[in-house]
Amino acid sequence: MKKLLPVLLALVLIFSACELLPDSGAKPQAASDASIWAMDTVMDLRLYGDADGSVMAELTALLNELDRELSAVSEDSALTALNESGRTDNARIRLLAAEAQRVSGFTGGALDITLLPVSRAWGFSTGSYRVPDTAELEALRGLVGMDKLTLTDEGVSLSDGAMLDLGALAKGYAAELCRERMEQAGVAGRLSLGGNIQTVGTKPDGSDWLIGVQDPEDENRYLLTLRLSGAKALVTSGDYQRYFMQDGLRYCHILDPETLAPVRGTLRAVTVVTDSGLYADALSTALFVLGREAGEVLWRERGDFEAIWAEADGTVWVTAGLADKVAEGEFEVVGP
Ligand code: ADP
Ligand code: MG
Repeated sequence: MKKLLPVLLALVLIFSACELLPDSGAKPQAASDASIWAMDTVMDLRLYGDADGSVMAELTALLNELDRELSAVSEDSALTALNESGRTDNARIRLLAAEAQRVSGFTGGALDITLLPVSRAWGFSTGSYRVPDTAELEALRGLVGMDKLTLTDEGVSLSDGAMLDLGALAKGYAAELCRERMEQAGVAGRLSLGGNIQTVGTKPDGSDWLIGVQDPEDENRYLLTLRLSGAKALVTSGDYQRYFMQDGLRYCHILDPETLAPVRGTLRAVTVVTDSGLYADALSTALFVLGREAGEVLWRERGDFEAIWAEADGTVWVTAGLADKVAEGEFEVVGP
């Protein structure tokens, strides 16, 4: 055994070295990690094959740039300029507004990016939380609605007093732009942009991405873990990350455009899995507003996404197309 030990050690070393090298041997495939604060959240980036750190530097610069452009709270963002002047020729804002219009269209208006005056009234964009009375909310109704925005050839224009908030889809869009850059550069990895997960490519050892879906009751636990391969977006919207409590009631940051009040139902969280980060993010917010039953109907109708619903009673529902990807966790299957 004593003689075997050095041989075994050498084998282990060769094996780990193989893990670090790609087929071509051109670039080491070691993992590199970065954690930044952008778009009002923590973003964790893990890349494989970014030998000189240049792709990581590009991605963090891109995320900071998107933050400066798309923030509804920053005074000098392009979005704030639109909200003040009523028009913009910013191509990214136009693209996000077009996707919001599309998703709003087939979710019965559940996604509504004009709710900013209302979320301000609730204190969500300022952090001074309060419960506005019905009269105050009704007075804002005239400013709100997807019909208040018009897509022009070059950009977006808003009717008087209307304001856009792209918080429901900006992080998913950011994840998608990062994915495109990583694919061009031949870099694999896994991004977590505050609850928005994006996987890109294949890990150097060829194994699947193992992704946990957070338990709304306990941030240190997972409801489920999923095995995913290739590029996938997994986006969660829920009532447990941004909310305030008053008189024993929970007020979460996702608003129901019909009531102009925080969504309140039996759903704690919904996760969308699909190929596009932008679509997944827009849809997860809309599905949270709609609730599980209407969401299931939409899943059957559209066939272009998979979803997981976490109900307040602890039940987890997984659409049939995702059920075989669950590595761990208990759930009910939503069938066709
Ligand atoms: P998060 O940004 O926490 O990941 P979401 O993607 O679900 O969660 O987006 C929620 C954000 O979208 C809110 O903070 C608010 O800015 C905005 N918002 C709230 N309700 C709606 C809605 N019904 N439609 C579109 N945007 C909304
Ligand atoms: Mg969203």
